[in-house]
Amino acid sequence: MINFNNLKTAFSDKSDTDLNRAYLLFKSMSNRFVSKILTGLVQFSLKLHFPIKFIIKATVYKHFCGGETIEESQTTIDKLWQSHIGTILDFSAEGKESANDFNRALKQTLASIEKAAVSDSIPFSVFKPTGLCKFSILEKINNNNPLSADEKIEKKEYEARVDAICKLAFDKNVAVFIDAEESWIQDAIDSIAEQMMEKYNKQKVLIYNTIQLYRKDRIDYLNSFLRRAENNYFIGVKLVRGAYHEQEIAKAKANNYPCPVHTVKTNTDTDYNSALELCIKNIKRVAVCAGTHNEKSAQLLVDLIEKHNLNKNDERIYFSQLLGMSDHISYNLSSANYNVSKYVPYGPIRDVLPYLIRRIKENTSIAGQMGRELSNIIAEKQRRKNI
Ligand SMILES: Cc1cc2nc3c(=O)[nH]c(=O)nc-3n(C[C@H](O)[C@H](O)[C@H](O)COP(=O)(O)OP(=O)(O)OC[C@H]3O[C@@H](n4cnc5c(N)ncnc54)[C@H](O)[C@@H]3O)c2cc1C
Repeated sequence: MINFNNLKTAFSDKSDTDLNRAYLLFKSMSNRFVSKILTGLVQFSLKLHFPIKFIIKATVYKHFCGGETIEESQTTIDKLWQSHIGTILDFSAEGKESANDFNRALKQTLASIEKAAVSDSIPFSVFKPTGLCKFSILEKINNNNPLSADEKIEKKEYEARVDAICKLAFDKNVAVFIDAEESWIQDAIDSIAEQMMEKYNKQKVLIYNTIQLYRKDRIDYLNSFLRRAENNYFIGVKLVRGAYHEQEIAKAKANNYPCPVHTVKTNTDTDYNSALELCIKNIKRVAVCAGTHNEKSAQLLVDLIEKHNLNKNDERIYFSQLLGMSDHISYNLSSANYNVSKYVPYGPIRDVLPYLIRRIKENTSIAGQMGRELSNIIAEKQRRKNI
């Protein structure tokens, strides 16, 4: 059993100042009312170009992001690596729609692969398909809708960007995650991800697709994916529960189609854990990254590693969390010699804002109920006081 309650290990590289800052941050976010005002204020002020960037940078940004550039993120990379936690540099400019923005995201992802190639502390790179292509085009590809002449060119450019990333990953022997997004563009993403795996995963896993287990159809998808790849190429999967739950339900309701996601949490949990079992059962052909902050799922993967007589640090098995969240999982797993990495988002403050707002919302609890992050911080502050 992993003791996720070892807070001394979990907060080993946090100074008292770090802890106090985190306390103030999570305390503010835990209040629904304060959190709503904060997010509104941040959006409004940035829109009107009020000079509040430095406040955001010193607080919520400092906690959840590495820096505005890869170079600025080096301190975070080094700090995590002191505890043998790898970094996944995640250029987090979201909601962009121009060719310039897509080429900028491409350039950043290529730079993160170059950086990973020469750094033991960076085991993976990552990209979001919507960072490289217009959402509307991905939606049309997904639904096999006709594209205009210009859109056909944009589709080709998008495919070339994805291939450029995967080819560099292959040439530099760096593994790369393709993030999963909304279900109404995910078939398009799955399709290009499988093509890239077929092309670049012949000898070993370098390209990983992401599977969202809140979707009712993903265990079937994983099984069919395993069959398609058999004797042909290796499969890489990042398993997550899924980040667009509310949007999925709302869209299905508005458009009157069957809801694609589970609406009972335990059903998502059951599918997540079944996917972990399926991957470990097929580990000869699969590499898996458990992208989760769920202790039970992390413990299950630990148990499966033991049950199948695999090494704790088997290079095909990784645990991964987001920077600034669930350190009690990351640091305790890494201290027990499992492979652990953290997403370290970076980018200009204004561009990273949608990511930060998601983190604020995620950490806002139902009135009166204290979040796990906050209660861990309070317990660690108390432990230090008692020494
Ligand atoms: C390293 C990493 C990479 C990630 N990459 C992606 C990605 O590429 N794409 C993506 O979509 N997300 C991604 N995520 C986010 C992830 O999908 C989850 O939103 C987040 O990690 C919370 O889930 P959890 O497993 O940590 O655990 P938990 O806190 O146990 O589960 C919360 C999750 O359960 C699901 N859920 C909540 N309520 C219900 C309900 N009533 N019925 C059914 N299910 C419910 C939702 O998915 C929710 O996010 C990533 C997360 C990490 C840590």
